[in-house]
Amino acid sequence: MRLELLTIGTELLLGHTVDTNAAELGRALAAAGAEITRRTTVPDRPDAIRAAVAEALDRTGFVIATGGLGPTRDDMTKTVVAELVGKRLVLDEGLLAALEARFKQLGRPMPALNRTQAEVPEGATVLPNPRGTAPGLWVEDARGRVAVLLPGVPREMRGLLVEEVLPRLVARQGTDRRVVLSRTVRTTGIAESALAERVGPIEPEILPLTLAYLPSVDGVDLRVTAWGLELRDAEARLAAVVERLRAAAGEHAYGQDGADVAAVVLDALRTGRHRLGVAESCTGGMVAARVTNIPGASDSFIGGVVAYADVVKTAALKVPIETLEAHGAVSEETVRAMAEGAQRLFSADCTIAVTGIAGPGGGTPDKPVGTVWLAARVHTATHAVKRVFPGDRDEIRRRAAQAALDLLRRLLAES
Ligand code: AMP
Ligand code: MG
Repeated sequence: MRLELLTIGTELLLGHTVDTNAAELGRALAAAGAEITRRTTVPDRPDAIRAAVAEALDRTGFVIATGGLGPTRDDMTKTVVAELVGKRLVLDEGLLAALEARFKQLGRPMPALNRTQAEVPEGATVLPNPRGTAPGLWVEDARGRVAVLLPGVPREMRGLLVEEVLPRLVARQGTDRRVVLSRTVRTTGIAESALAERVGPIEPEILPLTLAYLPSVDGVDLRVTAWGLELRDAEARLAAVVERLRAAAGEHAYGQDGADVAAVVLDALRTGRHRLGVAESCTGGMVAARVTNIPGASDSFIGGVVAYADVVKTAALKVPIETLEAHGAVSEETVRAMAEGAQRLFSADCTIAVTGIAGPGGGTPDKPVGTVWLAARVHTATHAVKRVFPGDRDEIRRRAAQAALDLLRRLLAES
């Protein structure tokens, strides 16, 4: 089955909003066996929307659009599409009642503007949206061509896609459905080229699946994709390849698909009944933020200090002034003292410490910008490593937080 995507919104063309809907629809539809032949973005202008929908229907007879379903004047997708397919807008009493109930629950009167959101093109299928006020719409014209209209808000779009659109697409394709399916093995702490040396030998053996190396500040993801296979076949082949990739990546692999090192660390802490405290200088709390972003962090995470100025390193963490004077704030001695100080301060059995030069200023010939000392401590064992990260200030800080979490992951795996 072939279809086109259309994302609607002037903010997308101005670059104020990144078009995450198109990326997400791309992944989900490929996995559901739909082939996306083109994707288009247009501003909130009726002529542009009309032309884009008409052309997509002429080419494939099926278009999925997001955006422009709100109650305000700049949201005009529904009106334009209704006109294009020759349907009147009619008030849907059920929708109106649901909208009124929604506002009542929020304890607010419903603005008159929202009433227009209960109007639908005659004969359209309403796709209920429990996450917002704009329902999705499945509109068919007289020739059986389909325009699916979804709200622009990513969370609402995603809900409707998964609950309403994908099941209908799968049903339309019947039994010989072919899918495009990907799995990702996440690695960190190893350069792309070094990873390629480990993975290279198995690359020829994974055909017809394809492999991509996707580097980011978090590490290098290995994405393997099965194209145009039956679902069961694709899943079985992917599972086998993922096993081999994980084995090849060894200790550098920390998880699959959406895995997060912070969550992996928390799992290990919970299993070992450990409690974590952190001491951060150049990351300014990013490690603590990564950890507390994971639900259930309170099982294992005690707290952290942002020891940015030396006075905090000495007062809160008891880093000796002599250590700072002799070796500097960015040194192995200081990061080790920070890890030990955090252990005392929080009565924690595990700690993470970070101190470095995020730039753009402050670098010296022997400690250039990007130099970061990291430490992870479990009971009385401390691992300290120096890394020199590439990138700008933001990248260096994010790389440092990821590497610090990963250092503890590795230490916990050994102990
Ligand atoms: P709309 O349904 O057009 O009123 O969009 C509501 C909000 O969703 C906009 O303000 C954007 O922040 C967001 N949005 C709209 N389209 C997209 C898109 N394609 N990708 C990501 N966010 C979007
Ligand atoms: Mg909009």
